Amino acid sequence: MIDKSQYNESKPLDMHNLQFDIAAERLAVEPWIIEKIKYSRREFSVRFPLRYDDDHTELLTGYRVQHNTLRGPAKGGIRYHPSVDLDEVRALAGWMTWKCAVVNVPFGGAKGGVTCNPSKMSQKEIERMTRRFIWEISPIIGPDSDIPAPDVNTNPQVMAWIVDTYSVFKGYTCPSIVTGKPIEIGGSLGRLKATSRGLLFVLREAAKLLNVDLSRSKVVIQGFGNVGYHVAELIEEFGTRVMAVSDVNGGILNESGLDPAKVLEHSQKTGSIAHFPESTNITNAELLELPCDILIPAAIEGQINRSNAGNIRAKIIIEGANGPTSPFADEILDDKGVYVIPDILANAGGVTVSYFEWVQNVQKLFWKEDDVNQGLDQIMTRAFHEVYEIHKKEKVNMRTAAYMLAISRVAAAKRLRGIFP
Ligand code: NAD
Repeated sequence: MIDKSQYNESKPLDMHNLQFDIAAERLAVEPWIIEKIKYSRREFSVRFPLRYDDDHTELLTGYRVQHNTLRGPAKGGIRYHPSVDLDEVRALAGWMTWKCAVVNVPFGGAKGGVTCNPSKMSQKEIERMTRRFIWEISPIIGPDSDIPAPDVNTNPQVMAWIVDTYSVFKGYTCPSIVTGKPIEIGGSLGRLKATSRGLLFVLREAAKLLNVDLSRSKVVIQGFGNVGYHVAELIEEFGTRVMAVSDVNGGILNESGLDPAKVLEHSQKTGSIAHFPESTNITNAELLELPCDILIPAAIEGQINRSNAGNIRAKIIIEGANGPTSPFADEILDDKGVYVIPDILANAGGVTVSYFEWVQNVQKLFWKEDDVNQGLDQIMTRAFHEVYEIHKKEKVNMRTAAYMLAISRVAAAKRLRGIFP
């Protein structure tokens, strides 16, 4: 029996470990394998100076954690955020392992990050920081060993600087060092929107089984970045309009629906979505507790926890962000009958199309956007139904079902590969 009092809800790594333990307890996997695959394989911390535009320098800290490489090269994004620390990166790297295993793409899990505040940095400073950070972690990354991608506050431009920096060292152009890069230098059609599109394929399948009419659903999204914005845009294909969205500065609400393109334009002009015309300003806390059919957390981890889970009035939560809901909140939501579709399934579309991008780079043969989207649909739909079957058969929630599937696959790889030497 798991002693949950040992786990601190405000620590993403504790939440990762508890989610893992809850699922592992239900599986008959050898204890030595469970111990091996729970923890990260390799952790790399770096300190490096950054020269700011005003010529002063500061020492920054960055990390790259490879959680698991049993099923293929380590794979995971790079995050620039003030809250980045080794434990957060460990948790995010672990979630990548389980995510790649749930959708059955041949990657392990990794994550990286630099503790910094990019909202206060110029583009030139971000570029210098990126190039130096990549140089610092270059001993452990590589197209066949560990392939970074975008995450919070990193984007295709940052990926382009990574391609350039890594290629300069190698002496030849090496697009397969990262995914999520611009199309012009080897990116994949469909990658920018892939996380959001994948989430909507999963939502479509869930809605069919739960008898939810998406065209009449009230949808709320926390976070208006790459994932949140594109979900708001693409969900219109179901005839659905999002009624509330937020960013780090707060949220906006319009019961009759928001126009995502106009909200984006306003946010690009003013620096935030707040004070968007034809809407009411609300806080992020109020947004999460709005009565709605579908709540999509697409910002950062730890947003739905013991303190607010009881107030959530959504019928379905589908997680765009990594780690937005704690296992303590899961218990409360399960009791209330809220249907939670977990991050390691729901937001796996990004890494799925990252896999397609990597395959295209390695083969030097590029796919049409329709082929990318169809391939994504097939993988997300299959993964959803595999998780759903375990959820029904084992009478566990969707998160535990997804972990059970992922842990079984990674454990099978360990069992087959054995121990060196
Ligand atoms: P992003 O940087 O493009 O956007 C993040 C958004 O969240 C921004 O609107 C920001 O203002 C908002 N935000 C940040 N802190 C917040 C807070 N405390 N409260 C409310 N809003 C806040 O990042 P993204 O790429 O859209 O990633 C969002 C989440 O999705 C992250 O958890 C990330 O790990 C996860 N994710 C991203 C991808 C991807 O392909 N980009 C794939 C899988 C999972």
